[in-house]
Amino acid sequence: APGLYLVATPIGNLEDITLRALRVLESVDRIACEDTRQTQKLLNHFSIATPTISYHMHNEGPRAEELTAELKQGARIALVSDAGTPGISDPGVELVAAAVAAGIAVFPIPGANAAISALIASGLSTERFIFHGFLPAKAGQRKTALEQFPRNGATHIFYEAPHRIAETLSDIEAVFGADQHVVLARELTKLHEEFLRGQVSKLRAELNARPAIRGEMVLLFSPSPGEKTHKQSITAEVSALMHSEGIDEK
Ligand code: SAM
Repeated sequence: APGLYLVATPIGNLEDITLRALRVLESVDRIACEDTRQTQKLLNHFSIATPTISYHMHNEGPRAEELTAELKQGARIALVSDAGTPGISDPGVELVAAAVAAGIAVFPIPGANAAISALIASGLSTERFIFHGFLPAKAGQRKTALEQFPRNGATHIFYEAPHRIAETLSDIEAVFGADQHVVLARELTKLHEEFLRGQVSKLRAELNARPAIRGEMVLLFSPSPGEKTHKQSITAEVSALMHSEGIDEK
């Protein structure tokens, strides 16, 4: 059927491509790629000859219009990112919004995703989780972002770059305490896949002892109750006062 196909690709292990993904990539008119060279390697591996076109954060707006025009003519277009699920900390959102607005059918072709893969093996609660993508790169903003993480039992998940992981772990320690349990999932589905689980202070020491910290990583934790932020303690105080005065909060 004509429409936009959002095709997940592997995040390391090429066996994680799905049969449906291969069939769709083979049969669409064009594949819009975050990086055509990156995707070409995947296509070569599976002997797929479908033409590609670039779709990345620097041409997302104009390209979305162009592709939407083609889709309106009845084209079948697949969207892929370099790895994993398109639109998740990757380009795609603008094109999907444009396609939806134009009344074009959008088909998710599910597959690998680093956040969900990390979550299911983390040992943390999967009942409620909050995905943050990447935290701000600037130290001050990152710390503020961490301070605003809800402490409601949900598991927080975010992507982190290897050159920032040490700083981020020390921020977590500063905001949530040295005993905060964290999970670091590294190189998922790859040869050197690794899970580090434990107190943030211990994990920090363990990583510091390594000659280099490399690879792709996902960080997860559920803030332990106890230390409350200033704002939360004020809210609690106000609420307690209202109760003691017999005032209904709602
Ligand atoms: N769209 C992708 C997905 O569905 O997971 C995420 C793209 S985002 C630009 C790339 C980040 O995802 C990396 O910096 C890393 O934090 C995380 N990531 C991707 N592949 C990973 C892997 N194999 N192991 C651990 N983290 C990974």
